Amino acid sequence: MADVALKIREIARELLDSEKVDVVIGFKKGTLPVMSEPTIIRKASDTKDLIWDATCRLNLCNYLTGRKDRIGIIAKGCDARNIVGHIVENKIKRDQLVIIGVPCTGMADKKVLSDLAGGEVTAYSEAGDQITVSGPAGEKTVSKADVLQSNCCTCIKRNPVIFDEMAGEPVEELSPDNRFADVEAIASMDAAAKWGYFEELLSGCTRCYACKNACPLCYCPTCFVDESRPQWVGKGTDPIDIRTYHFLRAYHCAGRCTDCGACEAACPMDIKMRAFTRKSIKDCVDNYGWETGMKEGVRPPLDTFKTDDPEAFIR
Ligand code: SF4
Ligand code: SF4
Ligand code: SF4
Repeated sequence: MADVALKIREIARELLDSEKVDVVIGFKKGTLPVMSEPTIIRKASDTKDLIWDATCRLNLCNYLTGRKDRIGIIAKGCDARNIVGHIVENKIKRDQLVIIGVPCTGMADKKVLSDLAGGEVTAYSEAGDQITVSGPAGEKTVSKADVLQSNCCTCIKRNPVIFDEMAGEPVEELSPDNRFADVEAIASMDAAAKWGYFEELLSGCTRCYACKNACPLCYCPTCFVDESRPQWVGKGTDPIDIRTYHFLRAYHCAGRCTDCGACEAACPMDIKMRAFTRKSIKDCVDNYGWETGMKEGVRPPLDTFKTDDPEAFIR
């Protein structure tokens, strides 16, 4: 990973020095050892701050929306798929971008790391495919493969689908046996068990909105949760309002979600709200053969219609 970080810095420095871009969006060390932070670099001398490791969980496409300048951006597989979506949805222009692709071997789950450390992680380091964390339980070293985020275990595109520069050698793509075993397990529950599952899933949600703020898809100028005329959803933490927020947001992400995991990585309450979006990903695969962001210029299935559609409602 250190080699990748050096290559990222080299490419970013060259892009800024040659004035091919105005800014480079990447990651720097965070204030917490276990969370890197997105950063916008404007000077070649600051490219030394750029890092790359298994804490670079957030989706940098989130910082592209509506920008007018020329941008270099670091993109792992899922970020690159969201960038394709952003271009299709006219949130950024392709010719504004220099995409620095990073073949990705997955991100480490911060909750798993803090469990390993016995509480707050006070130090984090990587060497090859080994991760070492320190905390109340002392120093622990594990294989990265054992602490991956769940979305990274079923990732369908670890190599960026779109890029201009590449900061590493391509990695082998995964071929999970059953990518949607989790969705099928929920679907097989009876109504009462499903209700209990989702009630428990959302019981800790404080509606801080970190999940939607981290998501590149949530760029509406006024989110439905903030509308007051009409008011679609109440403002408090009534369980009905919490559920409404989550399932409406999931519908807005249908056909557009790349399963990047940034929403869960940002959640301070460790809520696994991808249970909603993963169902819509499976439905798009099953019903439309659709995988988000894999092809430039193709609109997502719920964003298109055919005038000769057999269903009368469309005509
Ligand atoms: S889903 Fe995980 S493994 Fe796949 S590109 Fe994104 S961070 Fe990497
Ligand atoms: S980040 Fe977590 S706690 Fe905050 S609104 Fe989303 S699910 Fe709820
Ligand atoms: S809903 Fe979550 S997993 Fe899907 S694109 Fe947004 S942040 Fe990524």
